[in-house]
Amino acid sequence: MSLIFGCLIILLLVVERSRRRYFKLVYDLRLLRETTKKLHKDAEDIFGIYEGVRDIATTMNMEDILKIMSQMMRKYFEFSFSKLCLFTEDEGNMSTAIQYDFVLNLLLNDRVEVTDKNILNVIANKRPIVSPDEKRIQEYIDDGEEKPEIFIMVPLIAEDKVIGTIEMRREREPYLPFSYDDLLKLTNLCAQTSIILRRAKLYGEVERLAIVDGLTGLYVHRYFQEKLAIEAKRAKTYNEVFSLLMADIDFFKKYNDQYGHQAGDELLRRVSKILKEGVRETDIAVRYGGEEFVIILLHRGKDETRALAEELRKKVETLKLEIEGGFTGVTISLGHATYPDDSTSIDELIKHADEALYRAKEGGRNQTVAYGKK
Ligand code: GH3
Ligand code: MG
Ligand code: MG
Repeated sequence: MSLIFGCLIILLLVVERSRRRYFKLVYDLRLLRETTKKLHKDAEDIFGIYEGVRDIATTMNMEDILKIMSQMMRKYFEFSFSKLCLFTEDEGNMSTAIQYDFVLNLLLNDRVEVTDKNILNVIANKRPIVSPDEKRIQEYIDDGEEKPEIFIMVPLIAEDKVIGTIEMRREREPYLPFSYDDLLKLTNLCAQTSIILRRAKLYGEVERLAIVDGLTGLYVHRYFQEKLAIEAKRAKTYNEVFSLLMADIDFFKKYNDQYGHQAGDELLRRVSKILKEGVRETDIAVRYGGEEFVIILLHRGKDETRALAEELRKKVETLKLEIEGGFTGVTISLGHATYPDDSTSIDELIKHADEALYRAKEGGRNQTVAYGKK
């Protein structure tokens, strides 16, 4: 009897061990399946990023590149905010030259000094930042009360220099921290795109240098000719108006003779600033020659052009420059002509605006004259 009982217990033990083994095997198998699935997805993502990058490798246009990158960011990551910054070094100071918001698809070209401590940290250490870090993730899971910031910031490195950063944030529920895989994928994307971005940025700068006058920051004559042809075509197609406003500094030769060429240069810069800031961003302010300017004023007829010209003239008139302990200033003369009222030929339009300017000079300078008016 006791022998049978003993055998039964052994049998039960064997069955129990087998059952445990079986469940462990099932568990391992499930884990293996899930890991394989995840590996597949990661491989797919990395391959997808590789394919996306291949598409942008051929273009030099920064905005096109950033748009495609934006699509990739949305496809492969989850974030509530994400931004790319590209830097420029100005006499040792880092500034952001280009910013791109991957949520709004918004490109900003303004130059701003880098003050964000995370960005400065990434630039100095050339390493990504992940918040919360591994130690804090546990705290974060344990108490869950005070939420740490959830973000990743990865450097874009080209030729061993941090040329930019990509940042992703989660600012909404469920506040899940970024995973190690997110970091890996983003690092991968940054590594593949940094050279492309650097090349596009340089290309953009060279292009800009070719169309912008070094002294005044206004467009150059060649660019004006190209733009004028395009705007005249557009105006003709859509029945729009635009005006050409020409301006010339009065007695500038005398100013140069009296205060020197450098002071003359400074004056040119200041007058140019007034002109550029006094018109719309879509208008085209040009350094036409030495101390002569022309502005293409889009969608503005005669009266609006005259009003604007007078505003600019008065602003220049009140400009005061400190020289040799005293103050000095200048005036400008202006002439304008309008498409299509005064002509539909661009050469003639330039001639008419120039003629009006000549008459402003003849009439005693520091004044605005419209073409055709006696
Ligand atoms: P007006 O009132 O008739 O326009 O007289 P003006 O003296 O302004 O005209 P003029 O054409 O006789 O002289 C233009 C001067 O502009 C001569 C030239 O030395 C100066 N100029 C042209 N480009 C530059 C420049 O880049 N820097 C400086 N400082 N002067 C320049
Ligand atoms: Mg002059
Ligand atoms: Mg002149």
